[in-house]
Amino acid sequence: MTALDGIPAGRDCGSCTLCCKLFPVPELEKPAGRWCRHIAQGRGCGIHATRPQVCRDFFCQWIYNPALGPEWKPERARFVLSIYPGSNTLLVSADPGAPAAWRGPLYLPSLRRWAEAALAQGDQVLVFTGNRAVAVLPDREAELGEIGPGDRIVSLKAPGGYDVLVERAGAGHA
Ligand code: SF4
Ligand code: SF4
Repeated sequence: MTALDGIPAGRDCGSCTLCCKLFPVPELEKPAGRWCRHIAQGRGCGIHATRPQVCRDFFCQWIYNPALGPEWKPERARFVLSIYPGSNTLLVSADPGAPAAWRGPLYLPSLRRWAEAALAQGDQVLVFTGNRAVAVLPDREAELGEIGPGDRIVSLKAPGGYDVLVERAGAGHA
Protein backbone atom coordinates (compact mmCIF):
# COMPACT_ATOMS: atom_id res chain seq x y z
CA MET A 1 0.00 0.00 0.00
CA THR A 2 1.15 3.58 -0.55
CA ALA A 3 1.27 6.41 1.98
CA LEU A 4 -2.08 8.09 2.64
CA ASP A 5 -3.20 11.18 4.57
CA GLY A 6 -3.13 10.53 8.30
CA ILE A 7 -0.67 7.67 8.04
CA PRO A 8 2.75 8.37 9.50
CA ALA A 9 5.74 8.27 7.20
CA GLY A 10 7.42 4.92 7.12
CA ARG A 11 4.31 2.95 7.98
CA ASP A 12 3.02 0.59 5.35
CA CYS A 13 1.70 -2.94 5.31
CA GLY A 14 4.70 -4.37 3.48
CA SER A 15 4.44 -8.13 3.61
CA CYS A 16 1.66 -8.13 6.25
CA THR A 17 -1.75 -9.35 5.14
CA LEU A 18 -3.27 -10.46 8.44
CA CYS A 19 -6.40 -8.27 8.21
CA CYS A 20 -7.16 -10.04 4.92
CA LYS A 21 -7.54 -13.24 6.94
CA LEU A 22 -9.22 -12.07 10.12
CA PHE A 23 -11.99 -9.77 8.96
CA PRO A 24 -15.09 -10.46 6.86
CA VAL A 25 -15.57 -8.78 3.50
CA PRO A 26 -19.30 -9.03 2.74
CA GLU A 27 -18.86 -7.77 -0.86
CA LEU A 28 -16.72 -10.84 -1.56
CA GLU A 29 -18.72 -13.20 0.66
CA LYS A 30 -15.47 -13.65 2.52
CA PRO A 31 -16.01 -14.90 6.08
CA ALA A 32 -13.96 -13.83 9.08
CA GLY A 33 -10.99 -15.99 9.95
CA ARG A 34 -10.24 -17.33 6.45
CA TRP A 35 -7.79 -15.99 3.92
CA CYS A 36 -9.32 -13.90 1.18
CA ARG A 37 -9.13 -15.73 -2.14
CA HIS A 38 -7.54 -12.62 -3.65
CA ILE A 39 -4.57 -12.55 -1.34
CA ALA A 40 -1.12 -12.69 -2.91
CA GLN A 41 0.80 -14.03 0.12
CA GLY A 42 3.69 -11.83 1.12
CA ARG A 43 2.78 -9.23 -1.50
CA GLY A 44 -0.64 -7.99 -0.50
CA CYS A 45 -3.88 -7.74 -2.41
CA GLY A 46 -4.07 -9.43 -5.79
CA ILE A 47 -6.90 -7.10 -6.88
CA HIS A 48 -5.49 -3.92 -5.39
CA ALA A 49 -6.95 -1.56 -8.02
CA THR A 50 -10.47 -2.95 -7.72
CA ARG A 51 -10.60 -4.11 -4.10
CA PRO A 52 -13.83 -3.36 -2.20
CA GLN A 53 -14.27 -0.07 -0.38
CA VAL A 54 -14.16 -1.76 3.02
CA CYS A 55 -10.63 -2.93 2.19
CA ARG A 56 -9.62 0.56 1.03
CA ASP A 57 -10.91 2.13 4.23
CA PHE A 58 -9.27 -0.17 6.77
CA PHE A 59 -5.91 0.41 8.36
CA CYS A 60 -4.99 -1.13 11.69
CA GLN A 61 -3.63 0.75 14.67
CA TRP A 62 -0.09 -0.37 13.94
CA ILE A 63 -0.29 1.63 10.73
CA TYR A 64 -1.73 4.72 12.42
CA ASN A 65 0.29 4.76 15.62
CA PRO A 66 4.06 5.22 15.30
CA ALA A 67 4.45 4.60 19.04
CA LEU A 68 3.79 0.91 18.41
CA GLY A 69 7.11 -0.78 17.72
CA PRO A 70 7.86 -3.51 15.18
CA GLU A 71 6.83 -6.21 17.63
CA TRP A 72 3.24 -4.93 17.29
CA LYS A 73 3.11 -5.31 13.53
CA PRO A 74 0.27 -7.79 12.99
CA GLU A 75 2.22 -10.31 10.92
CA ARG A 76 4.67 -10.60 13.81
CA ALA A 77 2.30 -10.11 16.76
CA ARG A 78 -0.30 -12.50 15.29
CA PHE A 79 -3.14 -10.13 16.17
CA VAL A 80 -4.57 -6.93 14.71
CA LEU A 81 -5.29 -3.85 16.80
CA SER A 82 -8.22 -1.65 15.78
CA ILE A 83 -10.61 0.81 17.38
CA TYR A 84 -14.25 -0.19 17.61
CA PRO A 85 -16.16 2.33 15.47
CA GLY A 86 -17.81 5.09 17.48
CA SER A 87 -15.83 4.42 20.64
CA ASN A 88 -12.33 4.30 22.02
CA THR A 89 -12.57 0.60 22.75
CA LEU A 90 -9.45 -1.22 21.58
CA LEU A 91 -10.10 -4.47 19.73
CA VAL A 92 -7.41 -7.12 19.63
CA SER A 93 -8.37 -9.50 16.81
CA ALA A 94 -6.36 -12.66 17.36
CA ASP A 95 -5.19 -14.94 14.58
CA PRO A 96 -6.91 -18.29 15.26
CA GLY A 97 -3.59 -19.88 14.29
CA ALA A 98 -1.93 -18.25 17.34
CA PRO A 99 -4.83 -17.46 19.68
CA ALA A 100 -2.67 -16.89 22.78
CA ALA A 101 0.00 -14.66 21.22
CA TRP A 102 -1.46 -11.53 22.84
CA ARG A 103 -0.91 -13.07 26.29
CA GLY A 104 2.86 -13.01 25.79
CA PRO A 105 5.15 -10.81 27.90
CA LEU A 106 5.71 -8.41 24.99
CA TYR A 107 2.03 -7.54 24.89
CA LEU A 108 -0.08 -8.33 27.94
CA PRO A 109 1.49 -5.74 30.28
CA SER A 110 0.76 -2.99 27.73
CA LEU A 111 -2.76 -4.28 27.09
CA ARG A 112 -3.44 -4.21 30.84
CA ARG A 113 -2.09 -0.69 31.14
CA TRP A 114 -4.22 0.47 28.23
CA ALA A 115 -7.22 -1.34 29.75
CA GLU A 116 -6.86 0.68 32.94
CA ALA A 117 -6.94 3.94 30.98
CA ALA A 118 -9.78 2.73 28.76
CA LEU A 119 -11.98 1.55 31.62
CA ALA A 120 -11.57 4.87 33.42
CA GLN A 121 -13.13 6.48 30.32
CA GLY A 122 -15.92 3.91 29.98
CA ASP A 123 -14.15 2.06 27.17
CA GLN A 124 -12.58 -1.40 27.08
CA VAL A 125 -9.77 -3.53 25.72
CA LEU A 126 -11.34 -6.64 24.17
CA VAL A 127 -9.66 -9.62 22.58
CA PHE A 128 -11.66 -11.54 19.98
CA THR A 129 -10.75 -14.93 18.59
CA GLY A 130 -13.55 -15.49 16.15
CA ASN A 131 -16.72 -14.76 18.14
CA ARG A 132 -15.16 -15.54 21.51
CA ALA A 133 -14.20 -12.52 23.58
CA VAL A 134 -11.91 -11.89 26.50
CA ALA A 135 -11.88 -8.57 28.32
CA VAL A 136 -8.47 -7.38 29.45
CA LEU A 137 -8.60 -5.80 32.90
CA PRO A 138 -5.75 -4.05 34.72
CA ASP A 139 -5.05 -7.11 36.88
CA ARG A 140 -6.62 -10.09 35.06
CA GLU A 141 -8.58 -11.25 32.06
CA ALA A 142 -12.30 -11.96 32.03
CA GLU A 143 -13.57 -14.70 29.69
CA LEU A 144 -16.78 -13.45 28.10
CA GLY A 145 -17.57 -16.45 25.91
CA GLU A 146 -19.25 -16.22 22.51
CA ILE A 147 -20.64 -12.83 21.63
CA GLY A 148 -23.75 -12.97 19.49
CA PRO A 149 -25.66 -10.36 17.49
CA GLY A 150 -27.22 -7.81 19.81
CA ASP A 151 -25.13 -8.79 22.85
CA ARG A 152 -23.66 -5.81 24.68
CA ILE A 153 -20.33 -5.82 26.46
CA VAL A 154 -20.45 -3.44 29.40
CA SER A 155 -17.93 -2.39 32.00
CA LEU A 156 -18.64 -1.42 35.57
CA LYS A 157 -16.83 -0.40 38.68
CA ALA A 158 -16.34 -3.29 41.06
CA PRO A 159 -14.72 -3.56 44.48
CA GLY A 160 -11.02 -2.97 43.98
CA GLY A 161 -11.27 -2.20 40.26
CA TYR A 162 -13.47 -2.97 37.29
CA ASP A 163 -15.46 -5.81 35.85
CA VAL A 164 -16.70 -6.43 32.31
CA LEU A 165 -19.72 -8.54 31.52
CA VAL A 166 -22.07 -9.36 28.68
CA GLU A 167 -25.71 -8.34 28.53
CA ARG A 168 -27.16 -11.06 26.31
CA ALA A 169 -29.63 -10.07 23.62
CA GLY A 170 -33.13 -10.90 24.80
CA ALA A 171 -32.08 -11.62 28.39
CA GLY A 172 -34.47 -10.26 30.97
CA HIS A 173 -37.50 -10.45 28.70
CA ALA A 174 -40.27 -12.86 29.60
S1 SF4 B 1 -3.16 -5.84 9.57
FE1 SF4 B 1 -2.44 -3.69 9.44
S2 SF4 B 1 -0.32 -3.82 8.69
FE2 SF4 B 1 -1.32 -5.81 8.30
S3 SF4 B 1 -2.12 -5.65 6.20
FE3 SF4 B 1 -3.79 -5.05 7.57
S4 SF4 B 1 -3.64 -2.81 7.76
FE4 SF4 B 1 -1.69 -3.54 6.92
S1 SF4 C 1 -9.82 -7.96 -1.56
FE1 SF4 C 1 -7.64 -7.60 -1.27
S2 SF4 C 1 -7.49 -6.13 0.46
FE2 SF4 C 1 -9.57 -7.04 0.48
S3 SF4 C 1 -9.43 -8.80 1.89
FE3 SF4 C 1 -9.09 -9.57 -0.21
S4 SF4 C 1 -6.85 -9.55 -0.44
FE4 SF4 C 1 -7.33 -8.23 1.31
